Amino acid sequence: MLQNLVRDFAEREVMPRSAELDEKAEFSHENWEGMARLGLTGIGVDPAYGGSGGGFRQSSIAIEEMARADVAASVTLAAHLGLGLETIARFGNEEQKQQYVPSLASGKGIAAWALTEPGSGSDAAAMQTTATRRNGSWVLNGSKQFITNAEVAETLVIFANQDRSIGYRGVCAFIVPAGTPGMQINPQHNKMGIRASSTCEIVLDDAEIPAANLIGEPGMGFRYAMDILDSSRISIAAQCVGIGQAALEEAVRYAQLRETFGRPLAHHQAIQFKLADIATGVHSARIATMHAATLRDQGLPFINEASMAKLLASENCNKAAYEAMQIHGGIGIFKESRIERIFRDARVTTIYEGTSEVQRMIIARQVLGQYPV
Ligand SMILES: Cc1cc2nc3c(=O)[nH]c(=O)nc-3n(C[C@H](O)[C@H](O)[C@H](O)COP(=O)(O)OP(=O)(O)OC[C@H]3O[C@@H](n4cnc5c(N)ncnc54)[C@H](O)[C@@H]3O)c2cc1C
Repeated sequence: MLQNLVRDFAEREVMPRSAELDEKAEFSHENWEGMARLGLTGIGVDPAYGGSGGGFRQSSIAIEEMARADVAASVTLAAHLGLGLETIARFGNEEQKQQYVPSLASGKGIAAWALTEPGSGSDAAAMQTTATRRNGSWVLNGSKQFITNAEVAETLVIFANQDRSIGYRGVCAFIVPAGTPGMQINPQHNKMGIRASSTCEIVLDDAEIPAANLIGEPGMGFRYAMDILDSSRISIAAQCVGIGQAALEEAVRYAQLRETFGRPLAHHQAIQFKLADIATGVHSARIATMHAATLRDQGLPFINEASMAKLLASENCNKAAYEAMQIHGGIGIFKESRIERIFRDARVTTIYEGTSEVQRMIIARQVLGQYPV
């Protein structure tokens, strides 16, 4: 039901404008409004705060279907739902939830989430941005980079350290409304993929926010960020399943249309084997993603499974895009073939929300702890 609803919207309204938006590297408010109309912008959020209810299984279905049609639209949704909105909904106090969640869940506003800095990505605890108490407010100084949605966001969650001498134990999370004086948002242009998504640098120069905008306890921000990343990896895994699915469909279609040596490509066993491998990769990534989502929704341990799903799905969708492009031959590297964009869009997935190396570190730590000698 949800899958059909999103697929229908994505095929009718999103797919037809994807190539042009990619070419122009233009954020689509129409795509966002369409997702809001369907209630996708509030999936996983309690209806008491204007959300659509459901959990990670539902958001995974929606994100997969959006990614199958347009990866840029899916990352906009994933960062909004799984990062920015989720942090306020999960760790915000009652007043903060009442004030910020309904607008975001309805899609009237978009959420962004800023952890990464020029000097700290994988090693997020090394952040340099500072938070200082001044006259009953918090004052933020520093800079963030690669922040999805920042330019179009109504509300940003920003992490900053109140005492760098104690490392990650000094990190705090703040709600920062768009337009806060002292906060400058600079779009970062010229990405190779997901070009129609917004990616920005944020410069904080004495950006003053009310004391009431601190999320949860001071010094707990790093914990909150890691908790959020644990679950948001499920969303990125779902995005990768959608990318793999799109690559599979393009490969299967082209293999039946193109003839070489007197018969369709699909009749050559070497091509059939490639199709079988792509399909198997997509299927296994989808199962791993839905398993992690189900564990998370049921309140069971899920961190290892979420990392495995993200690792598997992101590496698989890159392989799928590579092989699907190979099946296309020369035409595959031209923009007139959809696989060219899918190939570019897939690349970032092994990098953001924890690189493949970081996922392997998490999984190895769990495995070593699980089987001590
Ligand atoms: C398009 C895009 C959107 C993004 N959106 C957001 C967002 O909304 N919010 C946000 O906060 N961040 C966002 N990010 C940031 C993203 O999460 C980081 O880029 C990512 O975590 C990697 O950090 P880095 O780029 O600094 O790479 P580094 O941390 O500098 O890593 C470089 C390479 O070294 C490897 N490496 C690092 N340490 C180790 C180690 N100990 N062992 C082995 N290998 C290691 C990494 O795996 C990687 O391959 C986004 C990034 C991109 C590209």
